[in-house]
Amino acid sequence: MPLKLHVVVHGAGPAFIREPGCPCARCAEPQLPEHPSPQDMADLLAWVRQAHTAASLVIEQDGVAIDHTLIDIGMGVMNNLALPTPAHNQPISRLLVTHGHLDHIAGLDGLTHSLEKARQAGDFAAGEQPWPLPVFTTRHTWQNYIGPNPDNPAKGGFMRWSHERMQFEDLTDAALSLSAVELHPALLVTPIPAEHLAGSVNYLFEFWPSGSQTQGDPIRVACCWDLHHFPAGQPGNFWKGVELDPLSGALAEKMRDLSLLLIEMTHWRPGPGHISFEGEPDGYGVRDLITAWQPEATRIMHYSGWNDRHLPDGTWTRGEAATRNVNPATGPVSDHHLRRALHAALDAPSNIDIAQPAMTLTFG
Ligand SMILES: [Zn+2]
Ligand SMILES: [Zn+2]
Repeated sequence: MPLKLHVVVHGAGPAFIREPGCPCARCAEPQLPEHPSPQDMADLLAWVRQAHTAASLVIEQDGVAIDHTLIDIGMGVMNNLALPTPAHNQPISRLLVTHGHLDHIAGLDGLTHSLEKARQAGDFAAGEQPWPLPVFTTRHTWQNYIGPNPDNPAKGGFMRWSHERMQFEDLTDAALSLSAVELHPALLVTPIPAEHLAGSVNYLFEFWPSGSQTQGDPIRVACCWDLHHFPAGQPGNFWKGVELDPLSGALAEKMRDLSLLLIEMTHWRPGPGHISFEGEPDGYGVRDLITAWQPEATRIMHYSGWNDRHLPDGTWTRGEAATRNVNPATGPVSDHHLRRALHAALDAPSNIDIAQPAMTLTFG
């Protein structure tokens, strides 16, 4: 039986999801009309279940989940970890961390704690839950944001007190050489250096439904968050001397033939820290990456809507951070609104949508 790959989005929210008391649609609870449309219900469910950006890659064999890679775990993700395939108590084979911002790691302590309790309670079959939990990331992210720092024991990461529940797997060298690391005989990951926070990486996965890397073509899934730009050899950036041009060269070559691109887009117009739909005049944005890579499907992650205003004439402007889209006439930008704008801005019919918690795409 061929294997299947389920890509499950647990959360697609950026760091600042809701501001108590803010009347904008991203913060205030949606009010359902008397006869809600399917879109009204989808918006309400998305609001209720907003969680930080995280996803799982689950390999299924004969109807059973046999391998589970979790990518990032911020706040609100734990509640969403239900998977589409039966598995005895849903073990987690490994965690991949993109970077050390809390909207990507804040749930890690709770995750390892609950896995440890389940192990002690005998909830897992022998060997079913790898322990300590393998945590794949760069050395910089591990030592500065997650685990202990051997160079400075008084410092280190937010989870350093419970490092015995985690087994660090270093992806730094693989990122520097853009080489693949085997996670499962049917699943490889290539970490891609990303400029966002020091030590950031994105991930490219290759999955063989045949179960063998020598039989058939792989299904390719890219997780591009959080990202401002790929390294450009600038000495002031983290990945000094590394140059990756996503529009041509080795990285562009790797990103062709994607079955699925999960990509962040924190704003529509260029802003600090994160890639936007429109790039700077001398740079590139999400639109340029989609156009160059031509993925079969794209799902937008990590959209904040903050500072974005889509004016009635179809133009986008940047609002003032202090007012946060509270003007109902021009903002905020709802998922529904954003979806329409994306479809209008890209060649139709692009398979592009806004990622929602519990969204599952199955391949193989
Ligand atoms: Zn983030
Ligand atoms: Zn971040």
